[in-house]
Amino acid sequence: MAQTKSKAKTKKTATPRKPGTKRSRSWRCSSCDMSVSFEAGKAPKKPDGWSKRGSKWLCLRCRREEVMDKAGQGPEGWASRRHALIEFELLRDREATEMEIAKRASCSTAVVRKVRAALREAGKLPESTASRS
Ligand SMILES: [Zn+2]
Repeated sequence: MAQTKSKAKTKKTATPRKPGTKRSRSWRCSSCDMSVSFEAGKAPKKPDGWSKRGSKWLCLRCRREEVMDKAGQGPEGWASRRHALIEFELLRDREATEMEIAKRASCSTAVVRKVRAALREAGKLPESTASRS
């Protein structure tokens, strides 16, 4: 059984590596040690919801937990923790709908609306989202 050599492979045209090609970017949360990375060119300025504290990064989940921990402990603290989370999300993500925030805080949109109204009254949120197109 003579083995005939298969036809020569077509020469691969190697893409020359450009000098100064950006490497992928990654972030690591200083609190839970989770890390995210993005391909070069697709990396945002920072991962969604992450925040820098000094030289350390904190992921969105840890930020939410921090906000809630500050608001209250134990079963009696549940309402204030939820309230704090809704406030945090409303201030962080101005584009989010009441429905989205209600989902994140696992509550009804009515609760979100109330918190949003209170924030507006306190001047922490702009009166209307008229700038939205
Ligand atoms: Zn974290």
